[in-house]
Amino acid sequence: MEYTLTVMEIRDGLAGIHKRVEAAALACGRDPEEIKIVAVSKRFPAEKIIAANELGHSLFGENQVQEARDKIALLEGRDIEWHLIGHLQSNKARIAAQCFDCIQTVDRPKIARRLDNLASEFGRDLEVLMQVNVGGEEQKAGIDPGDAPQLLAVIDECPNLRLQGLMTIPPYTEDPEDARNYFQKLREIRDTLNEGRGVPLQDLSMGMSHDFEVAIQEGATIIRVGTAIFGQRPPLKSGR
Ligand SMILES: *Cc1c(COP(=O)(O)O)cnc(C)c1O
Repeated sequence: MEYTLTVMEIRDGLAGIHKRVEAAALACGRDPEEIKIVAVSKRFPAEKIIAANELGHSLFGENQVQEARDKIALLEGRDIEWHLIGHLQSNKARIAAQCFDCIQTVDRPKIARRLDNLASEFGRDLEVLMQVNVGGEEQKAGIDPGDAPQLLAVIDECPNLRLQGLMTIPPYTEDPEDARNYFQKLREIRDTLNEGRGVPLQDLSMGMSHDFEVAIQEGATIIRVGTAIFGQRPPLKSGR
């Protein structure tokens, strides 16, 4: 009974998001197909992921390495692509390099080199995005825009990392319109990094439930949407 209810809610959530993504893309002359939707399943139980996956969704995002590892193990064998969207500490890099298909939060040379070594040890390539702190917030993860070229050079020298583009978590703004200049900034940084670059960086991972339409207008190719698909997220457990 409860599972059926979950499936119905998530089906509606997914359908609603697809409709909104399509409308936002078409309204600014973009192809909706070029926008990937990462269903952010952090703190939601595995049943919700299973429900979404049975409904045909296969791209999920988690922000905690250990929580993700448990879910990924539980859901092994399913056709699911997992993205890490939370800050990665060095001591969790080994698990992350094993579990995830893409690490969206590479934000310092040390973690890039560490992931590269681990990927090499595991005999795999790892897709990564460079996380940029476009808001210049002190406590926020992400490389300073001014240091992005140096980090890019480091990642480019990592044979087992495949850099796809940039990711950002801008400062929270009540009005999604106020996030627009942060999204623009990420796109400009990507375009600048692409000058004279052989294989251009494509992806811009930006936009969440409350502001993804603005992000799409500004060129997002990956949006990260949790609550708009799964409903209200259970609160953080204390001690985390
Ligand atoms: C939680 C989270 C999201 C999704 O947030 P919603 O408001 O639930 O859509 C997106 N990106 C990151 C990095 C997150 O941590």
